[in-house]
Amino acid sequence: MADVSLQTRLNPLAEKLKLRLDEDQLMNCMRCGFCLPACPTFRETGIEAESPRGRIALMKAVADGIMSPDEVFEEQMNHCLGCRACEPACPADVKYGQLIEQARDAIEDHTEQHRWWVKLARGAAFELMFPNQNRMRWLGKGIRFYQKSGLRTLARGIGVMKLLPKPMRDMEKIMPDASSHGVVEQIGTRHPAKGEKIATVGLFRGCIMDVLFTETNIHTVELLMEAGFEVVIPDTQNCCGALHAHSGEAEGARALARRNIQVFKDAGVDYIISNAGGCGAILTEYDHLLHEDPEWKEGAAWFAERVLDCSDLLVRYGRLPGFSEDESKKPVKDSEPVRITYQDSCHLRNVMRSSDAPRRLMRQVAGVEYVEMMEADRCCGSAGIYNLVQPEMAGQILDHKMEHVKTTEAHYLLTSNPGCLLQMKNGIEQHGLSDRMKAVHIVDFLHERMCSGCGSK
Ligand code: SF4
Ligand code: SF4
Repeated sequence: MADVSLQTRLNPLAEKLKLRLDEDQLMNCMRCGFCLPACPTFRETGIEAESPRGRIALMKAVADGIMSPDEVFEEQMNHCLGCRACEPACPADVKYGQLIEQARDAIEDHTEQHRWWVKLARGAAFELMFPNQNRMRWLGKGIRFYQKSGLRTLARGIGVMKLLPKPMRDMEKIMPDASSHGVVEQIGTRHPAKGEKIATVGLFRGCIMDVLFTETNIHTVELLMEAGFEVVIPDTQNCCGALHAHSGEAEGARALARRNIQVFKDAGVDYIISNAGGCGAILTEYDHLLHEDPEWKEGAAWFAERVLDCSDLLVRYGRLPGFSEDESKKPVKDSEPVRITYQDSCHLRNVMRSSDAPRRLMRQVAGVEYVEMMEADRCCGSAGIYNLVQPEMAGQILDHKMEHVKTTEAHYLLTSNPGCLLQMKNGIEQHGLSDRMKAVHIVDFLHERMCSGCGSK
């Protein structure tokens, strides 16, 4: 038998994992396997180590000193999408999301030998860009210049794009027009409710959202005002920290969380509203992120319990505006209603536990037929930057998703998260469906069909 204490002593990563992994959560897993059918990577491969139960067993084996973490161990952790579909399926309430973040944090801490360009890219993204809204704005300006100045046409014409890896080429093709001015620069920070005020809400504008989907942020504000909410958009808010937390940069995520808590507290809001499932989910988990920080623990709990997705706020507390039929958007045949379907955002569904509210809103739109897509609750393969770093698995998952998308014969494929939206646009393009189907954020769809008289900036 191997000398386990010696093994652990010799492997610094094992030491780090042992310290970081929550032993209670590891022990809670009773190996029942109820989570297996919910897991996309297990469904694609059929391999136990690619399942939540398998990954937890690997973590436990390392924490117990039975196994030494090697490259294969790291690969299994990195193959996980972090979609957290395993959590609602688990009868023991194992917090898998926390375990995988702890494992990745330890791995990242241990990895001093990143290739130089990975180091550079991570440093630029996690330290320079995401934490700084002004730099994100400059990024937006840069992308817009590239898109509008003719540079993009030139780059495509002379074949520069061919030098990029395929997943990046695909993304470049479907990238929406970036905005050089964010939501605050365009419409200001405070917006009164229409009619009697129900509550004051703070909009979490996001960083990618505010560069690539600024219009959606503006539409969110207008939808909320119409439903009776005063909307405040604190201008000094930051990135939510989701990409940091999911990439093993827990301390970076904590620093961002502290700044956001302070900013929204100072704004005196009743609710904090997100229109991006990926951001919303980490915002609801600030209490866990800072649970070991005595100075911020209370503020983090205050913040986390106020976070809601836009659809949930509208359905639970809002005076819903009428969502009318839009004649100009009718499909070719007059008699046909507009058919729509919906792809759940994993984090909205599995972490924020919100799946009913968006469906209720969509069903209220006049002249629209809502079709439930088979396995709409399954990940689309986007998962933050997973589709860029694990293109093979992400591609397989997307292909399966698109088979279900096709059978809905929908004209609109709605989503509640920018990553899912881009992935769905990518799937529509790759599967030759762009002549009959469009991927749209649910807020934009509802906004377009709001009753007359609303939507004035
Ligand atoms: S987070 Fe998603 S991919 Fe990872 S183990 Fe859970 S279900 Fe599987
Ligand atoms: S469902 Fe929960 S308890 Fe059962 S194997 Fe999966 S993680 Fe473990």
